[in-house]
Amino acid sequence: MPELPEVETIRRGLEGELTGRRIDGVDWRPAKLRGGPSPRPLMEMEGKRVRELRRHGKFLLIGLSDRSTFVIHLGMTGKLLFAEPGEDERDHTHLVLGLDDERQLRFSDPRRFGLLKLFGPGKPVPDLDHYGVDALDPAFTPAALGTLLAGSGAPLKAFLLDQTKLAGVGNIYACEALWRAGLSPRRKARTTPKAKVAPLHAGILGALHDSLAAGGSSFNDYVDAIGQEGSFMMEVAVFQREGEPCPRCGGAIRRIVQSGRSTFYCPTCQR
Ligand SMILES: [Zn+2]
Repeated sequence: MPELPEVETIRRGLEGELTGRRIDGVDWRPAKLRGGPSPRPLMEMEGKRVRELRRHGKFLLIGLSDRSTFVIHLGMTGKLLFAEPGEDERDHTHLVLGLDDERQLRFSDPRRFGLLKLFGPGKPVPDLDHYGVDALDPAFTPAALGTLLAGSGAPLKAFLLDQTKLAGVGNIYACEALWRAGLSPRRKARTTPKAKVAPLHAGILGALHDSLAAGGSSFNDYVDAIGQEGSFMMEVAVFQREGEPCPRCGGAIRRIVQSGRSTFYCPTCQR
């Protein structure tokens, strides 16, 4: 599943290519996506220009020239790729945007956990209502993290994955951030020592930025908008490394299951 660094990598790739482009054609094949139906028909994007590309958590927000917002979520298997008009289409292509430079931007999603929604000019995006501050938003400071931690009795791992508190941190980055901070994933969020709040904040941002620098992590079949894989999985300390030595203390990395998801951590140096 694409996580924040992958979606941000895609956003940056699209930003340079798409900003200012006019959408000349919309070939929409409405499919039942997990994200629900679009409030406005996607055909209404025809003739509009792309004004800006934003991101909140794993949502891509494309601002158009009439102030409408096109929202995309890649779900589990969504792909957004540039293509030339004659190029073979991937299976399960749900949308093809024809651009004024003759290229196409195509969205495919075999498992249909994604979302494609167009919101009219100036309309809010209710899909974002239940999400907390984006992990890369400047408003997410160590003090803001401290406040969130103090209000949660959940284990740290579950706390980090709770998108209503902090948007965009997925399983791999939660594991890596806790390892970097030397905090146990089982520890209750509100018992985090004050001296560990800043290291945890740095761990979250560090893992996300390192992954961004590596172009994301292609541990399934993620590729960016021009089809390139990311290499962050080469750099992980604990994720999917059960039984291997901890890079910090040499202790064996353990895998446990928390709220149905695998957690990888070092029981020796994460307390
Ligand atoms: Zn260790």
